[in-house]
Amino acid sequence: MRIDQNKCVACANCIPVCPMGAIYIDPKVNRATINTEACVECGNCLRGMSQEHLNPTMVRTVRKMAKAVRLRFEPEPDVCPTAAFFMNELEMPRLVRQVFSDPVVEHKSTGIKGRGTEEVKTNDVVPRVDIGEVGYTIEFGRPGVGVYFRDIQEMTRELGLLGARFEPNNPITHMMIDKKTGDVREDILNEKILSGIVEIKTTIGETEAILDAVRRVNKRIDTVMAVGISTRCDENGEDKVLGPQLEEWGYSFARAKTNMGLGRITNIKKKEEAHDEHLASVR
Ligand code: SF4
Ligand code: SF4
Repeated sequence: MRIDQNKCVACANCIPVCPMGAIYIDPKVNRATINTEACVECGNCLRGMSQEHLNPTMVRTVRKMAKAVRLRFEPEPDVCPTAAFFMNELEMPRLVRQVFSDPVVEHKSTGIKGRGTEEVKTNDVVPRVDIGEVGYTIEFGRPGVGVYFRDIQEMTRELGLLGARFEPNNPITHMMIDKKTGDVREDILNEKILSGIVEIKTTIGETEAILDAVRRVNKRIDTVMAVGISTRCDENGEDKVLGPQLEEWGYSFARAKTNMGLGRITNIKKKEEAHDEHLASVR
């Protein structure tokens, strides 16, 4: 993202719009400036404000004249009065910031199939988490903190050592060079993104070790994290295995999402094929 310094009138409207706090008024030039290291290329500044096309010279002159008589001329707070923002062409590795941070951008060149993840929302149809298994979503950077890939790798490597299976269709898994060790592409390690979700699954017996590892790594990395775990309920819609164990280990939890089974595959042969395909893809 760039700000055209010839257009900017330093009204400061854009500063609160940036979730990363990357925009500031540079006192040396009296223009809004983007800290490129902090910017995650989310596009919020460009899309989050109306872009007016007032003449910058006219706006600066009016502001100076108003100031001289102790008045202020300020544009509406949700407007860039001179449409000073523009998106520049990005290349890898910086492009990865935009792919993971801008919800309206998809770049096939990175190999990522969309920015988001289905997590376990479609578990009825594609049995990602089967009976006796636990699925985890480990989310980094939200809200408004962001995360570097090097910190994500700190976690994925630890999970890899424990034998966690990374979800093959997850965008972060696509960024790995080794899906067993959790090693991420070296060229993107110092790139920062708005948020990212690592998805793994293990057997129920491995859950305590995974949660311990998440706590350990959380102390070493400079971001915020949220962990969600999921398991299959029994035929009565109850979870009598994982829930009691979580309580025993001292975790308080609440059921956040329940798949109702409305997407169940009735063609058993197809279901078995889907299951086999999934198993083959994680081997
Ligand atoms: S909103 Fe536009 S004119 Fe105002 S400081 Fe930001 S870039 Fe400059
Ligand atoms: S693209 Fe996003 S992170 Fe970068 S300056 Fe704009 S709002 Fe801030």
